Amino acid sequence: MKATNMKAIAIAAVAGFLTGFATVSAAFSAPAAAGGNPLAWLATKAAFEQFREDFWPEARRAGISRRVYARAMSGVTPDPDVLKRLERQPEFSTPIWTYIGKRVSDIRIAKGRELLKQHARLLGAIEHRYGVDRHVVLAIWGMETNYGGYTGKDGVVRALATLAFSGRKRKYGRTQLIGALKILQAGDITPERMKGSWAGAMGHTQFIPTTYLAYAQDFDGDGRRDIWNSVPDALASTANYLAKRGWKPGRPWGWEVRLPKRFDWRLIGRAAARSVARWEKLGIRPAAARRFYARDARAWLILPAGRKGPAFLVTDNFRAILAYNSSTAYALAVGHLADRIAGAGPFVQPWPVRERLLSRTERIELQKMLAREGLYRGAFRGHIGPKTREAVRRYQLSAGIPADGFINRELLEHLRRKR
Ligand code: CA
Repeated sequence: MKATNMKAIAIAAVAGFLTGFATVSAAFSAPAAAGGNPLAWLATKAAFEQFREDFWPEARRAGISRRVYARAMSGVTPDPDVLKRLERQPEFSTPIWTYIGKRVSDIRIAKGRELLKQHARLLGAIEHRYGVDRHVVLAIWGMETNYGGYTGKDGVVRALATLAFSGRKRKYGRTQLIGALKILQAGDITPERMKGSWAGAMGHTQFIPTTYLAYAQDFDGDGRRDIWNSVPDALASTANYLAKRGWKPGRPWGWEVRLPKRFDWRLIGRAAARSVARWEKLGIRPAAARRFYARDARAWLILPAGRKGPAFLVTDNFRAILAYNSSTAYALAVGHLADRIAGAGPFVQPWPVRERLLSRTERIELQKMLAREGLYRGAFRGHIGPKTREAVRRYQLSAGIPADGFINRELLEHLRRKR
């Protein structure tokens, strides 16, 4: 093959690489797959080296020294696994009861109770300093890394450089890569020891670099904010983050509650927030023996599995947990694990485990039908967030069916019949 042809093929491969993930994926898997295209892989590596040079001015503008940049980025190659995980979109999402059941396991509750005793003094000091309930801090530790059991083995610089280089999270990757370089420049950790998840979440409580820069704490006083190896630093960092994101001392995240028989469905959701005392007047009661307190706290009702599942009254502290991870299932699991560690029992009302949930394809169909009704303006990716749920609630209210915002087969059929 003539040299010019080689070059043309390499350029074509690079161009494809930069415009679409399919090519990236093909190029990445090439060295491993028998009969793959080694030329495409070489082009990928060449493009990555180019990226490393092109990214330097951005790092320099952010105040990173050439020495830190060279040390962190030298020898770094793109990680094929990172982009594979990024693109993984399961057809079926996990139902909330399965998610909570797995994460708030008996073993995790028992371990949490053990650590509550073992770290009593530390947790007391953290609670005193930041005002965040120690059980919630423990629960986040348990949820994020099983109390430090798995903190991630990926090199954070490599993972973030890969994300910054290609794929649909390039902007995130670039921002976090700059953040990681800043951490390295501050000398809190060496590039070799800066480990984390494929998405760049690091240490005992899985901070991404920008969160680290804004909120990490040196609680053991050794001069370094070491969330990778120091439990005091990691837990204080978590408490500090929750406090800065609005955690209010002496208040719960929320309660499992029972709704009265006759209930006005317009009262579901944050738009209907009011004081705990007013909810009590409307007939809302704690489902378990645990009583209401902080009656002046603002709270709102959520029904994460619809009207056939348990209901919860949640406060602004629940929102602080959502700042950690914006999934209702996550925040509820944290709150529940915290309660269980503190000695409470399981949820009282059963989950609707027989409910047939929708596949991704069906969820996309649902979003398109809601859009046609003029109720939904988000993306058609089958991802169920607040926009979709709100659209569903508005649809239910207009159709005169109980507006619990829950998405199941019944709802899909209802919309299909309308067409
Ligand atoms: Ca420290």
